[in-house]
Amino acid sequence: MYYDDDADLTLLDGKTVAIIGFGSQGHAHAQNLKDSGVNVVVGLREDSASVQQAKDAGLEVLSVADAASKGDIVMLLVPDELHRQVWESDVKDGIAEGNLLLFGHGFSVLYGEVEPPAGVDVGLAAPKGPGHLVRRQYTEGSGVPGLVAIHQDATGNAKALALAYAKGIGCTRGGVFDTTFKEETETDLFGEQAVLCGGASALVQAGFDTLVEAGYDPQMAYFECLHELKLIVDLMYEKGLSGMRYSISNTAEYGDYTRGPRVVNDDTRAEMKKILGEIQDGTFAREWIAENRAGQENFKRIRAEQADTQVEHVGKELRSHMDWIQTEF
Ligand code: NDP
Ligand code: MG
Repeated sequence: MYYDDDADLTLLDGKTVAIIGFGSQGHAHAQNLKDSGVNVVVGLREDSASVQQAKDAGLEVLSVADAASKGDIVMLLVPDELHRQVWESDVKDGIAEGNLLLFGHGFSVLYGEVEPPAGVDVGLAAPKGPGHLVRRQYTEGSGVPGLVAIHQDATGNAKALALAYAKGIGCTRGGVFDTTFKEETETDLFGEQAVLCGGASALVQAGFDTLVEAGYDPQMAYFECLHELKLIVDLMYEKGLSGMRYSISNTAEYGDYTRGPRVVNDDTRAEMKKILGEIQDGTFAREWIAENRAGQENFKRIRAEQADTQVEHVGKELRSHMDWIQTEF
């Protein structure tokens, strides 16, 4: 693990960092770096709604191509499925020998969507958290932990520069792990598919449906299966599984040990292995890239269907009365 003392921010002195994109990650990286005293430019499309937002934050905004050529360090923070297109049309030509090309996720490099030329450094500086938290924690004096990896080290300085960047966005305050593009991408995809997003959403949905189909009040089912999940996850986050189990009742703890493995059983574990295999052999990447080439038709249809379920409608109404919930985005 690397912390603040292991990274040297002065390595960025006299260099320009170009942040391409001003979305979840982009706005946080650009503003944190600027507040760390780094020279930052933001690259956006001319008609982008984010131009004004970036300017209001006191940042210099250029076209993507101009930012890429001005940057000694270029961080590509547009959605992964657009990396190939943005790289080919606007970024590639601006990358000079000795520049550092950075990514927030290894997908496009690992699966060959972006093929950086020899002679440039290529690295990963990825916070392990959503961009809005990366910004908020930085302003509060803490930092979201992160990862660094080096794909190509042409200058011999790639690692030290990537660590300086990670320090500039606040990650070395929380701790930065050394990894590879392959490990970061595969574990990230697996985590989001099997546990964090896919697994957790499907678990909430199935629990809610089970109670409602059995005739229980949907509002009660929402609180039980979705709302309370946060309280349990907060305990896990602070104290681990045993600490969480210490805080819940003995009845809940006994039910956890004896019933949990019936929900996530051998079939579920076998399916998780299959999902991991599809990530490792590139099946998932090929499917997602093809979905994007086809205009995201299935993806958009599923998104609309999933936003129109009973648990979503019930939740929207209930949350409108919870004025303590901060909706930042
Ligand atoms: P967002 O979707 O939030 O932001 C996308 C940004 O890219 C927007 O500013 C958008 O511009 C811009 N953009 C979109 N298309 C183009 C284009 N054709 N040309 C130029 N700019 C374009 O992305 P994220 O921040 O979620 O993801 C960025 C990277 O960070 C990805 O590699 C992702 O895997 C990684 N990452 C994301 C995390 C997250 O929490 N979201 C966590 C860790 C890593 P406009 O404002 O004009 O729409
Ligand atoms: Mg350049």
